[in-house]
Order: sequence, then C-alpha cells, then structure tokens
Amino acid sequence: MTRRTKSEWTEAAAQAAPNGACVIDGKRVPAASGETYASVNPATGAAIVEVSAGAQEDVNRAVAAARRAFDTGPWRRMRPRERGQRLIRLGELIEHHGPELSLLETLDIGKPVRYTTRVDLDQAQYTFRWYGELADKLYDEMAPTGPDVVGLVRREPLGVVGAITPWNFPMMIAAWKLAPALVMGNSVVLKPADQSPLTALRLAELALEAGVPPGVFNVVPGSGPGAGAPLALHPDVDAIAFTGSTEVGKQLLSYAGQSNMKRVSLETGGKTPNILFEDVPDLDFALRAVGFSVFWNSGEMCVAGSRLLVQAGIYDQVVDRLAAVAASWQPGDPLDPATKAGPVIDTAQHDKVMSYIARGHEQGARLICGGHKALTESGGYFVEPTVFADVDNSMAIARDEIFGPVLGVIPFKTEAEAVAIANDTHYGLSAALWTSDLSRAHRVSQALQAGTVWVNNFDQADMTAPFGGFKQSGFGGKDKSKYAVDKYTNLKTTWINIGKGGRRSDA
Ligand code: NAD
Repeated sequence: MTRRTKSEWTEAAAQAAPNGACVIDGKRVPAASGETYASVNPATGAAIVEVSAGAQEDVNRAVAAARRAFDTGPWRRMRPRERGQRLIRLGELIEHHGPELSLLETLDIGKPVRYTTRVDLDQAQYTFRWYGELADKLYDEMAPTGPDVVGLVRREPLGVVGAITPWNFPMMIAAWKLAPALVMGNSVVLKPADQSPLTALRLAELALEAGVPPGVFNVVPGSGPGAGAPLALHPDVDAIAFTGSTEVGKQLLSYAGQSNMKRVSLETGGKTPNILFEDVPDLDFALRAVGFSVFWNSGEMCVAGSRLLVQAGIYDQVVDRLAAVAASWQPGDPLDPATKAGPVIDTAQHDKVMSYIARGHEQGARLICGGHKALTESGGYFVEPTVFADVDNSMAIARDEIFGPVLGVIPFKTEAEAVAIANDTHYGLSAALWTSDLSRAHRVSQALQAGTVWVNNFDQADMTAPFGGFKQSGFGGKDKSKYAVDKYTNLKTTWINIGKGGRRSDA
C-alpha cells in the first residue's frame, strides 16, 4: 500500500462516508426497529456515522438467512477448493481496499494508521488467504479397525455459527473467526463490538464481491445485550465463537445452557506476567519489548504484559529506565503515521483506566511516570503511558485486566517465587520470560500456566501456530492455525459393513 502523509490521511478521513446498516442475506438493511446509534471516533469524541442498532428481530432475520444458506445454498456443497479460492479472493479484495479499511479501523477505534495499515489489515487479508489455501489440504480419516468393516471419521460443518467479537482488533479477530468457519462450509452471523462495527460491515460486502453467496456471512451490529444476547440464546445457532471479556464469556456459557446447548468457544481476558531474570540476555532489547508489550494499542490487548516481574539484582536499574521507555509511547493523532499510541476506546474505558490509576496510588504502589489524562483539548480519550513500581501481586492493578497503558512492576528474588507470582491469577492467556539459562527457560516455560509462553521475546505470533488461553482466559478450541477448524466442525463416525464379520450384529 502506498504510504500516505498525515494530511492525506486527514483529508481521506474528512471524505469517508461509511455505511452503518446491517448486512443480512447479501443486502444492506436498516435495523427492523429503525433505531441507530452513533459510532464515535475515540480520538476526537465526534460521531462518524449512525449505525443500525440490531436487536432480536434483526438477529432472527440473519439467522434465518444463514440457516437457509446452509441448508439449501451452494456454499457447503462446493468443492473445498472452490470455497478456498473465494476466500483467497476475499483476501485480495481486502488488500486492494487497504487504505479504506485501515482508515475505517483507525476512525472507529483510534488505533494509529501506522498499525492499522501494517498489522490489522495485513493480518486480516492473510488470514483469509491462509485458510483459503488450507481448504483442500485437510483430509478425513479411516479408523484402523479390521477387514470386515470400514470406520470413516469425517469432519462436517456445524451449521450456523454466531461470532461475537471485541473492539481492540475488530477486523483481525473477525477474520480469525470467519475464515476457518467459512472454509469448512458453515454460515456465519457476526455481531461486532458496538464500538467498532465499520470494518466488519465492509468485510461482508467484500465477501459478496469475492463470491461468498448471500446469507453465508451476515453482520448485525448492536449492543451486547441488544444483539449479542439474542444471537447467543438463539435456538437455531449451532455455535458461538467469542472473543471478549471473561465476564461476558461466562454469560455466553449460561446462554448456551438456557437455549440449545450450542457449542461455545471462548477467547477471553489476560493478565500476562513478563518475567525479567537477572541473566536477561539483552536488557536494551527486553526493555523495548516491555514498552511494546503494554503500551502498544494503548494497552488494549488481551496479551498485554501488564505485570512486569523483575529479579532483585536488576530491579532498581530496570525501574530507573522505565520512564524513558514509557516516554517513547506518548499518544498522538492516530492519523499521523509517526504516532505510535492512540486513545483508549471510549469514555467508559477511559474512566476505568483512570480509576485503576487512582487505586494504584491508594494501595501504595509507587508512580514512576504518567498517571494523567493526555491531549484533553482533542476531545478524545487519551491516557499517558503509566508505570507503577513496588507493586504487590495482591493489588488491584496486578489482579485485574485494566486494558489500558498501565504497567505494574513487581519485585521477586527466586525463580520459584517468580513462577508462584506469575501463576497467581485466574487468567492464563500468555506469559513471557527473559533468561540466558536454557534449562531455566524450559523449566519455567513448563511451569507457567498459560496458552502461549514467549522466551526472550514478546508477542511472537504466526498463523501457523494456535492461539488461546488456559484457566479463565478461555477454552473450547483455539484461534489460528489448522487447529481452529476443530471448533467449527463436528466429527462424524460412519461404520460400513463390508464382510461377514459384522461383529456387533452377531452379539
Ligand atoms: P466485551 O466482553 O465487553 O465485549 C465483547 C463482545 O461481546 C462485544 O461484541 C459485546 O457487544 C459483546 N457482548 C457484551 N455483552 C454481551 C452479552 N450479554 N451477550 C452477548 N454478547 C455480549 O469485551 P470488549 O470490551 O469488547 O473487549 C475487551 C476484552 O476482550 C478484554 O477482556 C480482552 O482481554 C478480551 N480479548 C481477548 C482476546 C483473546 O484472544 N483472548 C483478544 C482480544 C480481546
């Protein structure tokens, strides 16, 4: 994508005219109630566009369209290669519409264009291409039984999948759900976060252009209780694929129990421990990674390394250097390609982050830098990158997922103590450790209760490796990689008698 200047992005933002209507059965339609809500730019506090406030009736229409498409439409009956080619085409269209989609994401969530162009857009297009290529490389199996009977083990699509997604990586996480669900032949109804519906709605249009038949991919924007709950409670939805908070994840489990015991897969919160041992191989590199781990995306990351555990011998030195690390993540205008940090998503999140900063003070943590609102004249929801030292793991800033640019530094003396502190959380999404000792790297990474462990790096990731959490960070299948298809398929066993020895019928 051609690089644009700040004034070019600002000009494009002034021209942007996104469409906030639902996409149901291949058409743009308003909510049945006619109600809308304003999608707000978190960098300015100004409304971008009125978005359809989807509710029960819209969910009913979308689920009916998805069911029709699944039961009688061509999508699941296509050869896998044909489905795959259409998903690859969708990846190409996403790339082709890169500037438009990156801008929509930046306006909707305040993430700097520097990253919506490089990360969100790139990941979204690549995800569809990757699963498109996987389409005809997944084989079913034959059970190793005996000569008289054939036991076939086949993957079948589930049917209608409801996807419910968060606002921190709207396009990328939607792609992580959609691509493996669609490639296996399912239909999808996507409920994006109320704060960030714009790229999801545009993706549904591009999918139609790529040849995904009407009804296969529908988007109903709206609030969690208004549109998400009716989707999760719907008796004709076969599975819910969710990324969001642990609290809402628990509600979804209950909705499944109250309705049709639909499958639920949950990618939820985190409170990642990032452990710096005294033998950290390259402290300069590690400290840059510390800054990235918690200040990138304004700290609005499920994997944010918000608990920095530092061994006693390097504790003072590390704490002394963290103000400079934080200074390189001062927020600015997201439309400026030089900006590395934007605002947090909305006023509620802004107030939440500020209240955790107040609790850090109250509970006795030592403020090293930050702690205030920033760029208040912009009308947006900016917070200074904030570092607290001398944090105890029992403090609220160490226990709760703040989802903002707030780092807590926790001292420790021994390896055993570091592991105990790291695991003392109900989350288990990810963890990182820095050491030159190979044995320790293996020992500690085995002891950490987390779905992903990084050794001497932070946030290494690739579509080839699964992503998902332990403990209350989620379960029910992983995102990314070939493992993601597990949560969008049922395994069916078929026994075919081919000889005289039909053992069971003799019994
Ligand atoms: P959230 O749980 O508030 O909302 C997520 C989605 O659920 C939104 O679409 C929302 O509208 C919907 N929702 C809310 N209440 C609902 C209800 N009662 N019924 C059905 N749907 C409902 O989360 P968020 O604030 O959008 O995102 C932040 C959270 O997401 C953090 O906890 C973060 O850790 C988590 N997250 C996890 C991962 C991961 O892969 N593990 C990735 C990104 C974000």
